[in-house]
Amino acid sequence: MTALTPGRAPQQPDWSDPGLLDEVRRTLGSLRPLVTEEECARLSASMGRAGAGEALVLQGGDCAERFRESNPCDVGRKLDQLYHLARGLGAAAGVPVVPVGRLAGQYGKPRSDAWERVPDGTVMPAYRGDAVNSPDADPDARFPDPARLLRAYECAERVLATVRASWDGRETIERAHVSHEALLLDYEHPLVRQGSGARFASSAHSVWIGDRTRSVEGAHVAFAASVANPIGVKIGPTTRPADAVRLSRLLNPEAIPGRLSFIVRMGGARVRRLLPEIVGEVARRGAPVLWLCDPMHGNTVRIGKGLKTRPVGAILEEVVAFVRVLRSLRRHPAGLHLEMTPEDVTECVSTPRPFSALPPLPRYRSACDPRLNAEQAAEVVGRFASVL
Ligand code: PEP
Ligand code: MN
Repeated sequence: MTALTPGRAPQQPDWSDPGLLDEVRRTLGSLRPLVTEEECARLSASMGRAGAGEALVLQGGDCAERFRESNPCDVGRKLDQLYHLARGLGAAAGVPVVPVGRLAGQYGKPRSDAWERVPDGTVMPAYRGDAVNSPDADPDARFPDPARLLRAYECAERVLATVRASWDGRETIERAHVSHEALLLDYEHPLVRQGSGARFASSAHSVWIGDRTRSVEGAHVAFAASVANPIGVKIGPTTRPADAVRLSRLLNPEAIPGRLSFIVRMGGARVRRLLPEIVGEVARRGAPVLWLCDPMHGNTVRIGKGLKTRPVGAILEEVVAFVRVLRSLRRHPAGLHLEMTPEDVTECVSTPRPFSALPPLPRYRSACDPRLNAEQAAEVVGRFASVL
């Protein structure tokens, strides 16, 4: 696809050992692809059906996947949740639902703040995902270690084995695929492989570009433009309509249905205020895109000592606003992108705001952003189905 001069790459770790990094990149370049070109093409076809309004997409999983959860038991539970929600949405909407996990590679995190003050007052580098450093509150553990990129590959390989085992007895469109944010270019670039025609990212069936790295001139967008996989771009509140148009053309120059998803994450009020013009301009002047709703990242609030949470009420409101805006412009609301877990966590809060007291969050286990638990995720998917 498009060849571009690589631009600036924001949000890259300050790797502690450049010699080791080179060796790791060479090793990654010699390993077998994690996913096949055919698997990616099947997801493209399914996404194409969603683009045509004949299917929906349910993308979801942890904010930050953990290496220690790459075992069949933990992954099996995550897949059960994804399949269960997809089945419910499909039954309610009367169309097939494409399940896509934040799985098998969601090991790199962009951070607004490069530093973190831990509860005892020590300041240390922020956690950037298991592929970079450890979330432990220990300055040594926070050093970016390039060897972790190889562990990310190995863990992704294990997760994929469980994902593929779950395909037995399912129609192609109902099979779970894997996706993650293409953030760590020292992982993504060496894993690009030549396919039968185009080059493809062999790190996942689909990757997306985050809201902090979606600059049209930046290295992440250039990377996405250079691979044939279905790709996504997060569309946050600072996205100008003209940026969205340029991104759509740059990332989908051949106007392939299902190639490009815009994953809108603004918060409900901004969806109502800003999204109509973006959707309208992309429809008028841009290339085809699938519109997905991430109702999580525009609804994060800090409480107490900086702990992040998300009010479920605000998440539901954004889902409703998203569907109404898309419908009013005669576009298909093609699906949801959620941070969720089958675990019985209390990370997002169901009580209405403003909080009269700090909501108790006794089972907060996320290494990064607050996830919906099983019940909350079902409520959000149910709301989406009911307003469709
Ligand atoms: C995420 O999906 O975890 C994330 C960091 O999202 P965004 O780029 O939209 O902030
Ligand atoms: Mn997140």
